[in-house]
Amino acid sequence: MACALCTYETNKLVRIHSVRLGSLKWSLNATILLGICLVMLWNRKYQHFDQVVSSVTAKVKGVAQMHLPGQGGVVWDVADYSGPSQDKKSFLVVTNVIVTNKQKQGRCPEPPVSGRLCRHDNDCDSSTWSQHSNGIQTGSCVKFDALTRTCEVTAWCPIETKTRPPRPAVLASAENFTVLIKNNIRFPAFNFIRRNILPEMDDAYLRSCQRANDSLCPIFRLGDVVRQAGQNFSQMAVEGGVIGIQIKWDCNLDLLTRRCLPRYSFRRLDENESNKTLYPGFNFRFAKYNMVDGVEERTLYKAFGIRFDILVFGQAGKFSIIQLVVYIGSTLSYYALTTVLMDWLIETSCYSADVGQNYGEKKVESVEDGKKGVLSVSYVDQDHIRVVKMSLKRRLQDANTVAVETRREDAGHVTMAVSVLLQAQVDPRPVPDPKPDFERPSWCGCGRCTASALPQEELCCRRSEGPCISSSALFERLVLHRPLLEALLLYRDPLSPAPATRRSAATRSHSTATLRHCAYQQYVAWRFGVPPATTCPAIPRCCVGRIREEFPSPDGRYSGFTLANAAPAITTQD
Ligand code: ZN
Ligand code: ZN
Repeated sequence: MACALCTYETNKLVRIHSVRLGSLKWSLNATILLGICLVMLWNRKYQHFDQVVSSVTAKVKGVAQMHLPGQGGVVWDVADYSGPSQDKKSFLVVTNVIVTNKQKQGRCPEPPVSGRLCRHDNDCDSSTWSQHSNGIQTGSCVKFDALTRTCEVTAWCPIETKTRPPRPAVLASAENFTVLIKNNIRFPAFNFIRRNILPEMDDAYLRSCQRANDSLCPIFRLGDVVRQAGQNFSQMAVEGGVIGIQIKWDCNLDLLTRRCLPRYSFRRLDENESNKTLYPGFNFRFAKYNMVDGVEERTLYKAFGIRFDILVFGQAGKFSIIQLVVYIGSTLSYYALTTVLMDWLIETSCYSADVGQNYGEKKVESVEDGKKGVLSVSYVDQDHIRVVKMSLKRRLQDANTVAVETRREDAGHVTMAVSVLLQAQVDPRPVPDPKPDFERPSWCGCGRCTASALPQEELCCRRSEGPCISSSALFERLVLHRPLLEALLLYRDPLSPAPATRRSAATRSHSTATLRHCAYQQYVAWRFGVPPATTCPAIPRCCVGRIREEFPSPDGRYSGFTLANAAPAITTQD
């Protein structure tokens, strides 16, 4: 065996000459190529991508007049409604407020919603605090209103009593406020910097631009933002909420197709069905402090507002030969689809049954494990050769058929047989059947098979009942005719001693065995032609009996048909 290092194995291909299959192949390949190119261009698979790094600032503008309980009409500007602190990537607009005026440090009854109802001082604890209360209990039970008494607390008094925000929202006119968003981005891999306020935008443009007709305008009306997020501003203003302003940068930095512009989209980020949600909206508290007659007072605001979170994401791509090669490499496997589809078409006979069978024979070479014993069987009354699996438990006549194959003639044998038959003028009628002197087994249809102890030998020359092939004149002439067999043996071994000179008993017995084997081979070449690849032809019991009768073993012993000698290319019978 050649060393593994000195050899190279490659696949063997089958070429089918067919205009239809050829054009189908090229059409499929062209379709796949087209798909690959479209995906490459559409998803810019030839580019190397980098993610955006960005910074955002927002500037809200607008003033609103409103009526606050206890304060009358007031005007709020950006310092009032933007809330006390600003996150880096978000801004806040207060839209609704509950005001509690003139709170001072002192003692007062807690409102029933957050405090504890009581009848006597004993019901109240001293110096304790609960999660919902506004102050520290003093231990006394005092009147809250005409009907209820609650525990007294030390706290900022009076305590905030309203829990539900006013409807409509106090600052519903915040809808008309505008915000200028400044977004600087950078793609570090390409050292590319850009702003959403483009170089060509000047002061006059920014004063006049409107998002309704210019999608690049960086100034947004809050009412429009909320509407484009699919919400109603006046409803949302009551309890507040969170709106996301998404800025997407999808930049193509290749010279010819250079394009890098922001795209804005809006959506609500918090749960928007306030009647189904516990603690809906968005609120917080802040206070304004002042001194009145040396005593500190404060005004407490429970503010409901809309927080706008600005989310920047995106990528930039630039041509990269490595990415292109990687993409092309990853798409090569798709061309195998053509092979899979066409093989399927051919094998399922969707295309043409003849081509399918031909192709299958040429393409697939079956190799069976030699020990398994796959046999081929030929019956006189059937045109095809059956491939069967040999079993030691089941008689060969009833063995499972694995495949049915067309008979392929052995051209050399046909020529020889025809010339023999032409010379001899053989009478094609069967030789009269002598009444067999044994009982016919149940599986035999020809009446000339003898019983056998080995199931693998129980094979008749036919499926149905009828004359036996061993009784035919051709059998006599092609299989049993001694001069023909001797001529064949001489043809194979020209220097073997001539039949007339074989005198000794040893030579004769050897010669009989050789003739017997030659007769078996003649039978196989006649009945099977070229037996199906990797199968071993099986000779019916009647024919084996007839050949043994003609060329008997001197001691009457034959090795018979065994699994060991049933492997392909080994003589099947003795
Ligand atoms: Zn039979
Ligand atoms: Zn027979």
